[in-house]
Amino acid sequence: MSLPSITFTGHAQKEAWQNKVLPPVEQICEDVWSVPVPFPGSPMRYTVSYLLVGDGDVVLIDPGWDSDAGLRLAGLGLSDLTGIVVTHYHSDHLGMAARLRAASGAWVALGDLEVRRLSACEDLDLVLHNDREKMTLWGVPAGRLSEVAMDKPTLVHLQDLADPDLRLTDGSLVPGRGLDLKVVTTPGHSPGHICMVDETHSLIFSGDHVLPRISPQIALELPGPPNPLADYYDSLDLIAFEDEMEVCPAHEYRFSGMQRRVAELVKHNRERSAEVLRVLDRHRAETVWDIARHLTWSRGWDSLQAVSLRLAVSETASHVVYLRSQGHEINVPVTEPRLGALR
Ligand SMILES: [Zn+2]
Repeated sequence: MSLPSITFTGHAQKEAWQNKVLPPVEQICEDVWSVPVPFPGSPMRYTVSYLLVGDGDVVLIDPGWDSDAGLRLAGLGLSDLTGIVVTHYHSDHLGMAARLRAASGAWVALGDLEVRRLSACEDLDLVLHNDREKMTLWGVPAGRLSEVAMDKPTLVHLQDLADPDLRLTDGSLVPGRGLDLKVVTTPGHSPGHICMVDETHSLIFSGDHVLPRISPQIALELPGPPNPLADYYDSLDLIAFEDEMEVCPAHEYRFSGMQRRVAELVKHNRERSAEVLRVLDRHRAETVWDIARHLTWSRGWDSLQAVSLRLAVSETASHVVYLRSQGHEINVPVTEPRLGALR
């Protein structure tokens, strides 16, 4: 059964997406602007930042990847910026927060459940070692390990991301005079992802939790939450607000029809889980890697490399732990107590 599809509202963004160019800065309503920030080297091409002007306070949602080009674009009224809210810790959202904070004196806020992926004092060699162990447990062949496992520059980069000044709890309001931004905690894509609902303007800022075109990656991270896909389903329920509200995602383009999109995302993930079960049945897969290579991938398994390959494998792992939590017996090693215990 096909589901009723969503309604695109970000027409200029959609056109730019099809033409593979950066969309324009747009005024969505009187006090809200959307500002695309380049995401170099990524098929996502840009992160959409949102600038909200209150009563003397100006807040930016998701500053995007740290780059000079991004800074120039977001440079509108930089000295007036009082707050920076980031939906989750990934570099294409939190990346430029430290630089913007230094330039403006604005506070930086993350959800209270969001992880600090790596603190400054972390032993990077140990993190690298554990990551390789995890990838080996998941069946990544020795010859592909250095491609798939984390490397030191990535870890150093993660260590350098901004530490938040504020933590936002579920149901609280983002601080700022004249703003009406309610926090909804939506774990799944990351452990402490948040969305924000602006009832005054009838807008939902959905971060990477709900995107119009692609299904957000739900990856098992170790250490990390034990069942991110279960968390994601719960979080989709929480955000399925009225279909009339305009959804402002952090990538791609604006749309309305949140309930319809949520239904599509649930269906997509359920079908993926069913495919994992079929692969286990047919191919007697013994590792996460074995399952992943038999699944269908939009550009084919062989096209997956480096980060996208890593994500494919960790996404498959998240389906395995989810299916197990639903009572399926799957004898594929996914977590060792030592790796999975943290949270
Ligand atoms: Zn993102």
